[in-house]
Amino acid sequence: MKIALDLEGVLADSMGYFLDRYNAQRGTAYAKSDVDSWRWVPTVVGFETFDSIVNRGWRTNPSKIQYSVEDLPARLPSLMTATDLRVDIVTARTGVEESMQRWLATAGLPYDEFVAIDTRPKPELAYDVFIDDDPTLSRHLSSEQIQVLVSQPWNEHVACDGDRVRRVPSVLSAFERLPPSATGRSTSE
Ligand SMILES: [Mg+2]
Repeated sequence: MKIALDLEGVLADSMGYFLDRYNAQRGTAYAKSDVDSWRWVPTVVGFETFDSIVNRGWRTNPSKIQYSVEDLPARLPSLMTATDLRVDIVTARTGVEESMQRWLATAGLPYDEFVAIDTRPKPELAYDVFIDDDPTLSRHLSSEQIQVLVSQPWNEHVACDGDRVRRVPSVLSAFERLPPSATGRSTSE
């Protein structure tokens, strides 16, 4: 059983960083709750603007990118270590991999491999479980794959298919409630 753990919107509050910078630059007052659909970025601020501000954040100011969950470094590493499953960080952002890996190290998060893919849908990679905030990801799942959808304002209006997609309030709950077949701890190693 292999888990693909998303970074932005799941571990890192990239949207919060983006809105702070965007609001400061443009005099707007967007809050995360305003970002109420996956289409908000392309339709309201433009994907290129979003991408360039967030990329610059990772490159120049990663310590300003907050954890998605308060006290994440105190709570998540032990939950991750408690599973015997392979956990890779899988992100769709490329070009800032080193900064992201340093950020993960600062948070003390244990993982197996860091995987940055560009435009391919993540489910094309051989993972069984995707812990991800992207509400469009489930369209690409094979019948063997499931998604644990981490709730965010931009996915909360999307209905979840209980078999293939289950919603959790945070990445902490995702690890607390891995599917039954995935929670057994190996006693042989
Ligand atoms: Mg994400």
